[in-house]
Amino acid sequence: MIQQPLQWIELNAEALKHNITQFKHLLGKKRNMVAMVKANAYGHGMLEIADIAIKSGAEWLGVQSIDEGLILREQGFTCPILSVGYIPLHHLEQAVNKNIRITVYNHQSIEKLGNICRALNKKAFLHLKLETGTYRQGIDEDEIIPFIKKIQQYKGLVIEGISSHFANIEDTTDHSYARDQLYRFQNFLDIIGRYGIKERFKHMACSAAVILFPETYFNMARIGIGMYGLWPSNEVFVSSLLRDRPEFNLKPVLSWKARVAQVKKVPKDAFIGYGCTYRTTRETDLAVIPAGYSDGYSRSLSNISYVLIKGKRAPVRGRIAMNFLMADITDISGVEVEDVVVLLGKDGLDSITADKLASLTGTINYEIIARINPNILRVVV
Ligand SMILES: *Cc1c(COP(=O)(O)O)cnc(C)c1O
Repeated sequence: MIQQPLQWIELNAEALKHNITQFKHLLGKKRNMVAMVKANAYGHGMLEIADIAIKSGAEWLGVQSIDEGLILREQGFTCPILSVGYIPLHHLEQAVNKNIRITVYNHQSIEKLGNICRALNKKAFLHLKLETGTYRQGIDEDEIIPFIKKIQQYKGLVIEGISSHFANIEDTTDHSYARDQLYRFQNFLDIIGRYGIKERFKHMACSAAVILFPETYFNMARIGIGMYGLWPSNEVFVSSLLRDRPEFNLKPVLSWKARVAQVKKVPKDAFIGYGCTYRTTRETDLAVIPAGYSDGYSRSLSNISYVLIKGKRAPVRGRIAMNFLMADITDISGVEVEDVVVLLGKDGLDSITADKLASLTGTINYEIIARINPNILRVVV
């Protein structure tokens, strides 16, 4: 391993374990937790997070693509893996071979899977995705019985789970739409139950649902953002305060660090960076930091964010470049080449959160972390 990396991500294993324990406590012993490790574990690093998540008590891993599932299998993960995305028809055989649970909602997938299972004499474990009002993936209510009949034409196809996903549980403190979706889900379950299907797992809840609504738990929940120690939104945080659950808290798992590449003096009235978007108003000490938008540090943060050096805030000056950003260290004494810079996380008494960077650029914490370049070194601490 590189001894002195220029840039790295630290993953706090204790924090991850703490967050998982918090969610498992809410869910209770009998329910299963799917640790969502899609999108490189929300930018954290899929293999590192999957390993700690399973050791911390998550029963399942949730991925988006077949590729993510295959990598987990190659690396020796034997737990159930659920793909919540779309698996292309010509990759379904690999999913069956590696026993990756498949989210289904297309007739074409069923036909292909049925033939694969027949040819290989294997089983495929399916999770039906139901349309309850998100209008992303899902089977409509009037389609569900024909869909199940189609599945039943094939011997190897097992309906293992029934699932849906909330559209409007993070963005609001008005939960009427979420309740309506839950009602529609229950209606689906009635229809399916009356038809005689006995699926093992019913799951609808994401982090926000688990934090706010026990009635969404059924017997499995898919947890992403909360596991990484971030709140799904301010609205969820505010709503949770009314739930009288003072002991529930989350600890951020990820810190993002880099080292100073150069320290320099810049005269008053000088322009910094591409486009000359910042002009110094005084003689300025500047730190050049080898991290930029190709690493996932958004160019939209140009001139508005700050980094932490020696526990103090150093404002970003000028445009963020592909591989560099510059920060004003005039008010921080003694900064030297290769000193540690915190782009995201704690430093001394201060910290920069994903929520902070998100609010500066008009996005959500999910996007801030999910876009961190997977090639940056991950270190579990
Ligand atoms: C990503 C994802 C989740 C996790 O949502 P969080 O808000 O991060 O907890 C749950 N279900 C599905 C289908 C997802 O794609």
